[in-house]
Amino acid sequence: MKVRAQIGMVLNLDKCIGCHTCSVTCKNVWTSRAGVEYAWFNNVETKPGVGYPRNWEDQDRWNGGWKRKSSGKIQPKMGGKFRLLANIFANPDLPEIDDYYEPFTFDYAHLQQSGESKDVPTARAHSVITGDKMEKPEWGPNWEEILGGEFVKRSQDYNFKDIEKDMYGEFENTFMMYLPRLCEHCLNPACVASCPSGAIYKREEDGIVLIDQDKCRGWRMCVSGCPYKKIYFNWQSGKSEKCTFCFPRIENGEPTVCSETCVGRIRYLGVMLYDADRIEEAASVADEGALYEAQCDIFLDPNDPDVIAAAKRDGVPDSWLEAAKASPVYKMAMEWKVAFPLHPEYRTLPMVWYIPPLSPIQSKWEEGQIEDDGVIPDVSKLRIPVKYLANMLTGGKEQPVAHALERMLAMRAYMRTRHVDGAADDNIL
Ligand code: SF4
Ligand code: SF4
Repeated sequence: MKVRAQIGMVLNLDKCIGCHTCSVTCKNVWTSRAGVEYAWFNNVETKPGVGYPRNWEDQDRWNGGWKRKSSGKIQPKMGGKFRLLANIFANPDLPEIDDYYEPFTFDYAHLQQSGESKDVPTARAHSVITGDKMEKPEWGPNWEEILGGEFVKRSQDYNFKDIEKDMYGEFENTFMMYLPRLCEHCLNPACVASCPSGAIYKREEDGIVLIDQDKCRGWRMCVSGCPYKKIYFNWQSGKSEKCTFCFPRIENGEPTVCSETCVGRIRYLGVMLYDADRIEEAASVADEGALYEAQCDIFLDPNDPDVIAAAKRDGVPDSWLEAAKASPVYKMAMEWKVAFPLHPEYRTLPMVWYIPPLSPIQSKWEEGQIEDDGVIPDVSKLRIPVKYLANMLTGGKEQPVAHALERMLAMRAYMRTRHVDGAADDNIL
């Protein structure tokens, strides 16, 4: 056993209001520079939807992540000397600016002085001004929630699955949720394995994944290799950049900017201990649906005396051991089993975990559309299918997600009794 400490994050999707404050504060701190105008180290996307960059989840298209060979070993789809030679002049698996969106400076004078128009001012890349005529924009981040069912009709080339199409209706019937995304600071990062220059590294002390700007040669294999599409090429410096997990703040005991400024208070930071000797074993299990469980298996109980002794032997500082014991990430992911990694089937062992959203369940429950046996409602009759959440969070396994939703609902019912009706015993909590 080789014990390592890793900082991780849990986001409670039930509380995200899609305000984008996290994205804007992150941008102000990290990417308000020439060359990375289009880059959002943190973005918030509408789900179901194509996300940002567009269709990032389509791994066949971008060749991201790891592939499992017949020998049982895994290797990055992108990377290696042969791949580098093959793509030295043109890496074919890169999103283009239209897959992100073209940033623009909003011209307020245009708003105040222009004549009456049927269309609002919009990004240049998605509108063509011909004389007085401005064509309608075709796409932009969070576009799905604006168009609802119309988006599906107008977007035949987007990679929607039937289950996603079914969730889009006309305005009042549309269901959507918000998914804030940042680099996952994976335990088995495909970006590190894809880089021919050895410029990307995972810090021993806290697991944060960084790009050495002096070593980066701008090959952009990492942009393709990251299955979450969370590396951006800086067109001015010619180097790749990514979320740093605000490491200067973490080193000073402060939270990341996105966590500190989150309006919904949905983000929790915490330390996890894991067995670094079992990374490859966990990432290479044959059954994609078993990867979530395999990832859970490598985390270690921070209260186990044997783990503590091994961690001290392996150089984990006492302060981090204390942080691991109090870690909300460990509690929510491992003890309570209400938080899940995003797309564990990508085999990178991501470290940003999500609590699935409850809100649409709650409204159905209150409308009497879900059976209620007194405490735990039946989550099989939901407007947002558990299957959809499971495809996103557990490699398709529905039972863990349903269990988490039931737990969350039971807790919400209890807290409402406790705080809203005022009927519960004050000594309970
Ligand atoms: Fe690397 Fe982050 Fe992508 Fe994981 S999510 S592969 S750590 S860039
Ligand atoms: Fe969601 Fe918080 Fe970001 Fe607002 S600041 S979009 S609530 S994660």
